[in-house]
Order: sequence, then C-alpha cells, then structure tokens
Amino acid sequence: MTEKIYQKERYLKKMTAKVTDVSSADIILDRTIFASDAGGQPCDLGTINGCRIKSVTERGNDIVHTLERAEDEADFKPGDTVELKIDWARRFDHMQNHLGEHILSGIFKSEYGLDNHGFHLGDEDGTFDLDTLELSDEMIDRAEDLANQAVYDALPVEVTFVKSREEAEKLPLRKQLTVDSDILVVTVPGVDCVACCCPHVANTSEIGIIKITGHEKYKQLTRVHFKCGRRALLDYRQKHKDVAVLSERYSADEFTLLSKVEKAEKKNDKIRKEYNEFKTGIAEANARRLSEQDAPVITGEIGGADMDLLRITAKKLSEITDAPVVISSPEAMSVLLTSAKGSPVKCGMIVRSLAAEGRGGGGDTQAQVVFNDTEHMREFAEKAAAEAAEVLKNEQDITN
Ligand SMILES: [Zn+2]
Repeated sequence: MTEKIYQKERYLKKMTAKVTDVSSADIILDRTIFASDAGGQPCDLGTINGCRIKSVTERGNDIVHTLERAEDEADFKPGDTVELKIDWARRFDHMQNHLGEHILSGIFKSEYGLDNHGFHLGDEDGTFDLDTLELSDEMIDRAEDLANQAVYDALPVEVTFVKSREEAEKLPLRKQLTVDSDILVVTVPGVDCVACCCPHVANTSEIGIIKITGHEKYKQLTRVHFKCGRRALLDYRQKHKDVAVLSERYSADEFTLLSKVEKAEKKNDKIRKEYNEFKTGIAEANARRLSEQDAPVITGEIGGADMDLLRITAKKLSEITDAPVVISSPEAMSVLLTSAKGSPVKCGMIVRSLAAEGRGGGGDTQAQVVFNDTEHMREFAEKAAAEAAEVLKNEQDITN
C-alpha cells in the first residue's frame, strides 16, 4: 500500500521513500508525493533518483510510477531509499485549475441549480459539463464574477478526512459519493463542498484569476471551458499581444478595433464584388474573341489568367458554342478542357492518355492539368486539341 502524502502535504516538492516493488518500468513506493491520474486531473510528473516519470496510476491500494525509460528500472530494487522530486510548475497549475473548477461548479449549483457531470483538465484548458442546454452570457458573467470574488476573499480551503459514508453525508456535499470509506472532502467555505481525492491550493487567493473561455453543446449537456491562474495570465498576455498587433494594423484602440474591422470587412466585400464583376467582364470578352475561331475545337492561351478566370471563360464559351474547349494560362501553368454534355470528346480521358508530364484529371465534361513548365503545358494543349478534333472527325465520319 502506498501512502498518499500529497493528500496531506500538498506543497511538498521533495521527499524520500522506500521502494516496495519493481517490475518492468513500474516502481511502487511505500509513500509518494506524486498524485495519480484521477478525478479528471492528469497525474503529476517529476523524477525518482533523477529518472523521469512518464505516468502515475493507481492500482488497488498502490500508486504505480512508470518511468520514461524502461532500462532505468535496473537502478531500483525493493528496500532502496529513493529521492522524489516533483515538477512543481505542473502540479501548481493543476492545483490552481482544479480548485477553480470546484468554485465554478459550486456557484453554478447554488446560483442556477446546475450539476456538473464531468471534469477534464487538459494541457490547454479545463472543461466541465453542466446539465443544461441553456447557458446565457449573463449566467456565465455572473458565475465568473462570483468565482473571482471567492478569489479576492482569500478563503482557506479545508480538507477533511472522513472515515465513513455516513459521516460524510452529514456534510453539505455538492455531488453524491462514489466511495464508501476514507473519503477526502474539500470545502471552500460558503462556496463549495465536495469529495475529491486530488490536491488543491490551500487558499483561494492562490488561484489568481478564474476565467470562462467558452462553451458549447455537448451531447445533452453544455461543456464549459475555463482557465485559471497562470494559464489565464498566459492567455491574457497572448490575446493582449494579438489585439495590440491588430490595433496598430487598423489604427484603432481596443475600444474601436471591432467597429474598424467591421468597416474594413464591408469595404473588402465591396471590392470583392467589383473584382468578380470585372473578372466576369474579362471572361466574356475572352469568350467572344475565342468563339470567333473557325475551328471544330476552340483553343487559346489567356495571359495573366488564374484557374478561376479560365473556368469562368470556359463557362461563358459554353453559353455561346457547343464546341470542345482547350484553353491554357502560363501564369496558372494549367490547361482546362471542357466539352458539352453528350459530346464524344471526353475531357478526363484525354487528360489520362496524354498528360504524362502534368498533374490533374477530371470527368467527361471538364478536366484540368497543372504543369511545371510552359513547354510541356503548350505541348499538351496542342495534342489535346488535335485529339479532340480527331474524335469529332471520327464521329462525323460514322454519322455520314
Ligand atoms: Zn475535484
């Protein structure tokens, strides 16, 4: 059995312990400062005699410390006294965020009668799931205000060891118990009281800040995302930097930034619309010019055209003529083939049989190929047009 020292002495960063069992990369000790993966909180990390720990899990009454390198196991044998060192930044972050979750859950319960149906602490943020589909911005702001008031009030966090379920149930627990004996109850006076086996900070002031960062529907619940303590500071720092960059770009301050961005978006929409009209005009002119060719297959190179302009030009051509089209652009290094529905000219087939040097493909009525150089592009365009003309000629011969 491993004694869980972290439940009593939450701020202990170093300690010695005795090895009781070793197998593969798993080390079991008589006592430990490393909290296991439990209650939605990831495990602590650190070192045993300088060997890095990969994971900490609970197995029966034991805490199993799995080392990063299985070969380090040779350095340990039962009876050894070893030195444990915790990754304190990680543990403190967990303690800040976990107590923040207790406080928010207690407030959502007391203010709105909502139950928390699951907690998870990830590397980026923490989440918990509330049994509602109606969570308004007002509710979130109020819960956040009350949670941070609990931080300003610097409340001492009480941890009580309770022997039996009967005794624990005399306390105003927020959630039903899942264990029958040796229960740890964590109380934030006036805010929350719940059974929890994980370590938390000893005073609410140590959390620094509690921030809800988002929420979304999750199954029949609402998943709330939050960040506490240093995570919240880092988040604020990053967002402040982002806002500063945007403010400079839009010549605005944080109060006028949003309206300036909206104005710029409106202007961009207008420019995009004008640009599309302009492009359609060019495509129409190109289509008219190309359709004047006295040939069974319409061909042409359109300088400066991107793939989009090639497609619009082909579409405009299809409104004028049923003839197959092979058009290209050196800028897009591409060839576009189109043919009318039901035409004997199958664009995709031509691409597959002739475009060995390019990448592309398509169906019967439209196909495209991208090349690495104009020489191969032009060579293919020429061959494809000849092939399409040949197909048309054969078709005509059969008909005649
Ligand atoms: Zn908890």
